[in-house]
Formats: sequence, C-alpha cells, structure tokens
Amino acid sequence: MLYKRSSQLFAEAEKVIPGGVNSPVRAFKAVGGTPIFVKSAKGAYLYDEDGNRLIDYINSWGPMILGHAFEPVVQAVIEKAKLGTSFGMPTELETQIAALAVAMVPNIDKIRFVNSGTEACMSAVRLARGFTKRDKIIKFAGCYHGHSDSFLIQAGSGAITFGSPNSPGVTAGTAKDTLLARYNDLENVAALIEANENEIAAIIVEPVAGNMGCIPPNKGFLEGLRQLCTDNGILLIFDEVMTGFRLAAGGVQELFNIPADIVCFGKVIGGGLPVGAFAARAEIMNYLAPLGPVYQAGTLSGNPLAMAAGLAMLQALDNDRAIFQRLEEKTAYLAAGIDKVLKANNVTFTINSIGSMISVHFDAAPVVDFKTAANGDNETFKKFFHGLLQEGIYIAPSAYETWFITDALTYEDLDFTIRAIDKVSKTF
Ligand SMILES: *Cc1c(COP(=O)(O)O)cnc(C)c1O
Repeated sequence: MLYKRSSQLFAEAEKVIPGGVNSPVRAFKAVGGTPIFVKSAKGAYLYDEDGNRLIDYINSWGPMILGHAFEPVVQAVIEKAKLGTSFGMPTELETQIAALAVAMVPNIDKIRFVNSGTEACMSAVRLARGFTKRDKIIKFAGCYHGHSDSFLIQAGSGAITFGSPNSPGVTAGTAKDTLLARYNDLENVAALIEANENEIAAIIVEPVAGNMGCIPPNKGFLEGLRQLCTDNGILLIFDEVMTGFRLAAGGVQELFNIPADIVCFGKVIGGGLPVGAFAARAEIMNYLAPLGPVYQAGTLSGNPLAMAAGLAMLQALDNDRAIFQRLEEKTAYLAAGIDKVLKANNVTFTINSIGSMISVHFDAAPVVDFKTAANGDNETFKKFFHGLLQEGIYIAPSAYETWFITDALTYEDLDFTIRAIDKVSKTF
C-alpha cells in the first residue's frame, strides 16, 4: 500500500504545527515513517487520503467502541447543531446524560462534565485535595492521567514513547507532591503511605492499565488499594477514562465490584466528541463550586453537541448490554489467533487482554508493570507495525499502546488480521 499523499500532507503540516500533529501519540516517532492522514471512517474502517482502506484497532484511542460514524451519534449531533452549538447556559440535555451516567455507574450520585480526560483527572485531584485538606497524591509508574503537571511523572502512553517522563515545564514544587508507586505492588503503596502519614489526599490509578500496553490488575491489587485508602483517610480515584463504559456499562467498579471514591471518564462517554467527566458520591461532589469551595469551570463544558453525542452513545450501550460480551468474545478470538500464529513462527511474545482491550508485547516474561512493559523488543515492534500497515491494518504507532476492539469489527476482519500477522511475523 502507498501512503504518498499522507507523506505530502505531513510535510505541509510540519511547517505550521509542531511535529505536524496536535497530539504526540499520532506521530510515528517510535516506529519511523510519517503519520497517515484520514479522510473518513465508517464502522471498523479508516479511509485515508491515498484511497487506502485500513482496519482500525485504535478507534480514536478508545471512543469509537461501536465503530466509526455510528449512526445514532451522527444524527444526534446533526440535529443538535441546527439548534445552536453553544450557549454557556444550562440545557436539559446535560441532566439527561448525567442521569443516565449516574444510573449506569455504581457508587456515584453526581457527575460533572468537562472537555477531556485530562481535565477530568486534574479536577478530580483538586477535588480530592480540597476534600481531604491534604496535598500529596500517589500515582503509578506507566499510568497515564492526561497531561496536567501533577501527572507527568513517569506517565504512560506518549510520555513513555518520547522518553520524557518528567517533562520540562513541570516545576519541582509540583513534582514533589506526586509520589510514584509500582503498578500491582501493594507493599510499595503501603510503604509510601506509611512514610507520608496523613499527607496523602488520593491514590489515582488506571484500575485496568491501558497506557503501557494493557495490564490488568493482579488479583487483590484493587481490593488492597481500596482497603489502604479506607484505613488511611485517602480517596481512591479510579481513572476510567479508557475503561469506563468499555469493560462494563459501569466500568471496572462494576467488573470487579470494587467501589472508588471518585471516578474519571473520557473517551467513550463523549461518543467521539471532546468530553470528559468526573463523578463521586454527593458528599464529595458537593465540595465543588458553586456549592462548595473547590473551583472548577469551563466555557464549553456540557456543550450541546458533545452531550448529544455522549447521550446517544451511552443510550446505545445501556440498551444493549450484550455488547460487552460480544466485544470480549471477539478479543479472545483475536488473542487466540495471534497466539497461534506467533507461536508457529517462533516469535517471543506475551499477549495481555481483558474485555475489549488487548496488547501484544515482544518479550516472553509476564507484563505486569511499567518495568516489564518496557522490556519489549522495539525493533520487532517496528517491523510488526509497518508490516501490518502494508497489509491495511492500523495499530497504534507505539509498543506502549492498547488495541481497542469495536463492535463494528467482523470475524472476517479478525481472520484477515490474524492471517496478516502470520505473514508479517514470518519476516521478523
Ligand atoms: C486518554 C486518557 C486520559 C487523557 O484523556 P484526554 O481526553 O486525552 O485528555 C486520561 N486517563 C486515561 C486512563 C486515558 O487513557
């Protein structure tokens, strides 16, 4: 397949946009080559500016769980746009999506909408600090919570790929309030809590990690975090920006039956428009302005187009809970197929997967945290990535990313993908 026009468009973009992209993960820095420019997308497929059709395993990094240009979302946005695109005043639509989210997600009474997952996590931490009157937070190496200052301390996703875990521009003063722990290591967390008695406001965690590849929590890890938080007056923040409305209608809280104190959302909740949200029980949410002292705001928060898209998406998921089962079956089918062909071709690998999330690591050891995720062979990944691209399959251009399975993918698409992986892995 040729990607000629994409290369030309990228050259134009580089002149006026830093690195030619508006988010670093879109660049091909980790794999070489130039990004593909999308013209349109429908269902499981992307159509690029060169006229190629690609099977999409990124799906806008998560939101398009029902496939691209999902008709009810598109219709909702078109209808709303005709009525005006932003008011900066309340609309009934905001209450409708809030009520549905509160009904679908366990342990939350109230939710506030923002414009991105970054904003959701940033606001959740401010709220936790205000509520507990403490300053420090614990985050896990390799977990990504958006690009706000407090989180750019060994963050996952693009922050790993680009080798700048501690970004310049984050002050030492900010960094000192973020304590780093190892994912899946409860003793490490307990030691940090003991060394910072009565100083920790919150532990923020991806309850299923997805930004260092896909890393499910070990048995007992989330239960242990819950207990440590309860025992020490710390709020447990589940960053479900990736997992919310994906691994179950109620996210990981529902999947593993573990209550968080604050939950962050993004991606799926906006149906592909810029939306984030954070939610908690009333006692905590009432700490927010205008009711409480913790300030948080947004000119475009609760934007009618974004809320219409999000509501259509949540309604579709709420009305057909079998979706989550279907997604899990497709993922398991793909994982088994990849496992078979990679073994047959003597490739060293580990596959992690849960629900509709899957990642392939080119290392034999179990991938359970940031350190083990970093052990994968990047040269093999590069060949894998570019080989698949030639076969018309688009996975994330970094070994640290999760692939997302959508309801639009057919078993024929999955078989095609497995055959392509067989072909490509023969060239390693
Ligand atoms: C994507 C992501 C974010 C950031 O969301 P943005 O909308 O990109 O700001 C935060 N947390 C997790 C777990 C994510 O996957």
